Amino acid sequence: MNPLHRRTSFLSALGLAVASAASVPAQTERGSEPLALIHANVLDVRGGRVALDQTVVLRAGKIESVSPAAAPASVKVIDLAGRTLIPGLVDAHTHIASFAAAKRALESGVTTVRSSGVSYFVDVSLRDLAKSGAIAGPDFLASGYHVRDHLAEEAFYSDPSLSDLMGGVKTIPDIRRVVRMNLAHGVDWIKINATERAGTPDTDPRKQMWSEAEIRAIVEEAALKGVRVQAHAHGAEGALAAVKAGVASIEHGTYLTDEALDLIKQKGTAFVPTYSTVIDLAEPGGDYDHPVLILRGQAMLPRLGEAVQRAYKRGILIVAGGDTSYGPNSITRVSHEVQNFVKLGMTPIDAIRAATVNAAVLLKMEKSIGAIEPGLEADLVATAESPLDDPATLQDPLLVVSNGRVALDRLNFGKK
Ligand SMILES: [Zn+2]
Repeated sequence: MNPLHRRTSFLSALGLAVASAASVPAQTERGSEPLALIHANVLDVRGGRVALDQTVVLRAGKIESVSPAAAPASVKVIDLAGRTLIPGLVDAHTHIASFAAAKRALESGVTTVRSSGVSYFVDVSLRDLAKSGAIAGPDFLASGYHVRDHLAEEAFYSDPSLSDLMGGVKTIPDIRRVVRMNLAHGVDWIKINATERAGTPDTDPRKQMWSEAEIRAIVEEAALKGVRVQAHAHGAEGALAAVKAGVASIEHGTYLTDEALDLIKQKGTAFVPTYSTVIDLAEPGGDYDHPVLILRGQAMLPRLGEAVQRAYKRGILIVAGGDTSYGPNSITRVSHEVQNFVKLGMTPIDAIRAATVNAAVLLKMEKSIGAIEPGLEADLVATAESPLDDPATLQDPLLVVSNGRVALDRLNFGKK
């Protein structure tokens, strides 16, 4: 069902006042109608302050105003009754591959995701379907297939002309072909494996996969289409090669040395630790459930925690990523990443910035997402408490608005 219709019937069922528009309201391509969120305690993520009792007006999918003024006439009103309003969260490392998963992400308060690799260019399609309003989902940035030395089998279904690479991608011209194959399908990012994977029992995540020269070729090829590169890297050598070659972000970073962290800081590379997924590795159930991976995850976790602390001390741009498929058994959410950052020593506001403004900087979307300010996308989440006091409140959002449309409404939950 269209979430908008659900919202309308929900309001009618409760007998709440729904102002009837005298004229047909302005509709965006996504079908949002003007809304006023009243009695909202608005978190200013840049300033680290909460402005009490604000009215936030949303129109045509954008934030029109944030002020203590009354709601304008003829606009549907949602009373937040003192709940905290935060910017929609960004999950900068995801593997979403179904409508249900996209909906789960959105309903967890995530209004923008960067895909970090899926098969069959499902992320490109989900991006376009969510954008048109055909499905409920966050805004997507797609990345297609991992550029790695042995491509996923599915890559050959998507492009049989790559069949000569079934034995491995071994030369720089062939690496460039794989990048171009992704670009031809309209990806927004290129994802590479700078080291081997951690989530498969028989691969060593410390092992470097591409040389600096090879990664430089990938970065150059992507840049021809204005696309940047995210590098999966656990081991320090692979990460160093990727940072030197000019990738925009290092994903995971378990074994980052001081040398690698210093270079990351110097080059302005972002760090997306995906700490929560290593917790998932280390524990039974969830996305990963394998004894070898549980043991490995337990060994990796304290190292990654230290890497995050050393990165934070250096003032590196740290961005939150859940590294989950949002599948039916997934219990990882980007809200965990924020809470884990606090446990690792970040201030709550810095941890929230990792999932909002910092992510917007990495994605070069500061002018459209990451804060509650006029002109930005109407991507908002209401929480029962202020996440500055209790970050766990992020795990149970009460209201999610994406591009001005209500995607989840549980404001009747826990009502005093
Ligand atoms: Zn991943």
